[in-house]
Amino acid sequence: MNETKFIGAHVSTTGGVDKAITRAHALQATAFAMFTKNQRQWKAAALTRKTIESFRAACAEYHYTTKQILPHDSYLINLSHPVRDELEKSRAAFIDEIHRCEQLGLSLLNFHPGCHLQQINEYASLTRIAESINVALEKTAGVTAVIENTAGQGSHMGFRFEQLAEIIQQIDDKSRIGVCIDTCHAFAAGYDLRTEETCIETFNSFANIVGFKYLRGLHLNDAKTSCGSRVDRHQSLGKGKIGCTAFAWIMADKRFNNIPIILETINPAIWSQEIAWLKAMATSTYISTVK
Ligand SMILES: [Zn+2]
Ligand SMILES: [Zn+2]
Repeated sequence: MNETKFIGAHVSTTGGVDKAITRAHALQATAFAMFTKNQRQWKAAALTRKTIESFRAACAEYHYTTKQILPHDSYLINLSHPVRDELEKSRAAFIDEIHRCEQLGLSLLNFHPGCHLQQINEYASLTRIAESINVALEKTAGVTAVIENTAGQGSHMGFRFEQLAEIIQQIDDKSRIGVCIDTCHAFAAGYDLRTEETCIETFNSFANIVGFKYLRGLHLNDAKTSCGSRVDRHQSLGKGKIGCTAFAWIMADKRFNNIPIILETINPAIWSQEIAWLKAMATSTYISTVK
């Protein structure tokens, strides 16, 4: 496939996982994110053969390959849980999520690293997360675990690039670990993205500390909250504290090619416009103002 930008949104699976595909297609999206089960419940019925077949058939019909799809796991999972029984419950659920991806023919699974709940220190938390990922990768095949950076709200880990790098460092199979950078989370965590200069600085720091070879996805969200606020509140592109520059700059940079770029912005009614604008930015010639 040619070098290109894959752009879409986190679409609903109401009515069945295959419905995500027609919703993405309706937005003229070239990528999409989805949950493979109800994200607010622990248990889900196993995927039936019929569901799996219709999902795979719809992917083929609408030309979505596994590189364009970034499934997201349940919000209940905490791979850093300080209490052993709860940790085991999260690990089992995480493995189940990876199995669902395998069944659907998907190759990525995006997740939030975990919370220490003020009961273990940050380093112990990162080690626990890495151990959880190692256990899951050991029991599964073909799916890359994609850690999302967080806003650092509450006791969420993974808000500093150094923390993502530390988790990766402790992963046994580095061919199956990656990261997804959420622009709202990065900004809330203190990485400025308001100008071209600050975008360059932030992503240079990402390149040096984590490395673009681990970048498997992007979440493009503007932010309602200030830089460094550690509060995660998404906003539509250009309507928040980040502004349009960062998104135009990202679209013009080839290091973000061939990975799913996903909107989790707050107004689904304008997703098709946001996608169209991003596509236009990806094909326009970006004029750098940095001398
Ligand atoms: Zn996100
Ligand atoms: Zn968020």
